[in-house]
Amino acid sequence: MEQNSNPIMNTTTITCNKDYGKGTCGGEITFWDRPSDWKAFPKCAKHSAEAQTEFERIDRLYGVTSDVPPAGFDPTACGEEW
Ligand SMILES: [Zn+2]
Repeated sequence: MEQNSNPIMNTTTITCNKDYGKGTCGGEITFWDRPSDWKAFPKCAKHSAEAQTEFERIDRLYGVTSDVPPAGFDPTACGEEW
């Protein structure tokens, strides 16, 4: 087994955050950093890939990691800033 420098990984059993005991997980558990806010979620390889695909879909639609507001963004609508 590969050594991980994260001390949490060495002392605790990390389970995938999509592991509902239904055996739907697969592969090694790693932390997935959500690109929109860099929150880390423990995920198995399978759910990590799904999360990445889903994030890319959302990012394409809404551009959450973009510095440029989406076409429909109107700061006068409710006083929000991008
Ligand atoms: Zn999983």
